[in-house]
Amino acid sequence: MSKKVSVKKFRKVLVANRGEIAIRIFRALSELGITTVSIYSKEDRYAMFRSKADESYPLNPQKGPIDAYLDIDTIIKIALSTGVDAIHPGYGFLSENPDFADACERNGIVFIGPGSNIMNAMGDKISSKKIAIEANVPIIPGVDYAIKEVDEAKKIAAQVGYPVMLKASNGGGGRGMRIVNQEEDLEKEFNEAKNESKKAFGDDMIFIEKYLRGPKHIEVQIIGDNYGNVVHLYDRDCSVQRRHQKVVEYAPAFSIPETVRQEIFDASIRLAKTVGYRNAGTLEFLVDADNHPYFIEMNPRIQVEHTVSEMVTDIDIVQTQILIAEGYPLDSEEIAIPSQENVVCTGYSIQTRVTTEDPANNFLPDTGEITVYRSGSGNGIRLDGGNAYTGAVISPYYDSLLVKAISHDRTFLGAVRKSIRALQEMRIRGVKTNIPFLVNVLNHPTFQSGQCYTTFIEETPELFE
Ligand code: ADP
Repeated sequence: MSKKVSVKKFRKVLVANRGEIAIRIFRALSELGITTVSIYSKEDRYAMFRSKADESYPLNPQKGPIDAYLDIDTIIKIALSTGVDAIHPGYGFLSENPDFADACERNGIVFIGPGSNIMNAMGDKISSKKIAIEANVPIIPGVDYAIKEVDEAKKIAAQVGYPVMLKASNGGGGRGMRIVNQEEDLEKEFNEAKNESKKAFGDDMIFIEKYLRGPKHIEVQIIGDNYGNVVHLYDRDCSVQRRHQKVVEYAPAFSIPETVRQEIFDASIRLAKTVGYRNAGTLEFLVDADNHPYFIEMNPRIQVEHTVSEMVTDIDIVQTQILIAEGYPLDSEEIAIPSQENVVCTGYSIQTRVTTEDPANNFLPDTGEITVYRSGSGNGIRLDGGNAYTGAVISPYYDSLLVKAISHDRTFLGAVRKSIRALQEMRIRGVKTNIPFLVNVLNHPTFQSGQCYTTFIEETPELFE
């Protein structure tokens, strides 16, 4: 290690987020003896998370429910006036915004994340593809540049072979992707994709890649310190998706052959080292039916499903993020991961996302007051939540996540049973939930054998019964 270690402990940290992830981060901070600061929109003035922080400050009430959390100037002002040392962005909102990371650094506030240069390098799907090529990490056949004209798109699609996928380089959250099965449809889809991307993501950068039929979504959690050391925390299988959005996630990805898993871990470390990655991040791969892995993107932030990796490795990822931002190296006593061998994967962990989505009504999020709320708990169950309690009013402004139920057991089937039992213990009245649907997924033999693929939900009608 050539770089000189420099540590500056935080006394106070602001969390630029809301809901369950804000509470998750407050908990990690409190355990480290750090004072917590919450910010909240007008719409969140009665939300539980703000009362879980030591201090809490309103954002600009004129901005609206989402924009309030994207308002860099106000957030920096609050951070400066309350004297915080650092900001944790959580996921979503400003977590992947390099301008926000820069604004923090300019004002002498540490941004708990990888920093703007890495975000710029990995920020959109095209640039992260370029780096993957540089790091000799396999990517899906296609192009690594934005396509301007339809004719060019047609030429590339013909080379790649139908079906192809049109992707918005800046797309996220499962949006900005279109499958095109034949050339006749390409022109219309291409033009629509460009327009949609411009509206939703601020530019019209579209690229093409081969559409893989029924792949698995496997991702690797990595952690790097400020001194060039990187380890992985094994993998997660996030193949159970609806409309390209994750519904159930588990660790480790036991159904992938060991040699392929090792290949993915090595590729992840290689890619992270190529960009000089620091702090926590996730590399996402698709694995096709022949078990060939392809890198699709890197997320430079904490993810919703980080919990399952925490359960199987016993490493608190959020605390580690904070310690790394303070300047601790991985081999310090505080972090205590001197080498990859110190990361041990034990047992199996499954996360189900309990939401107010109504499976009987095309998963439309329900809103209103929760009149009864009793959670499942007990041996092997962890709940990360905070939006849901008796009397809570679920507004239409934010995502529909109520609570994440996370199980841990020595065997995968044991974890499945614990998850089902906990979900069945839950009583949530006043709003509809997806609990019966989640139980159907967990009970399904395809899920229990670890053989789910990304189109499993849409191709399995009995899950809706
Ligand atoms: P986002 O940034 O919106 O989450 P991702 O690139 O991570 O988008 O892809 C999300 C999901 O979309 C993947 O897990 C997979 O189900 C599907 N997907 C993405 N690219 C392809 C592809 N080339 N072929 C088949 N499915 C894909």
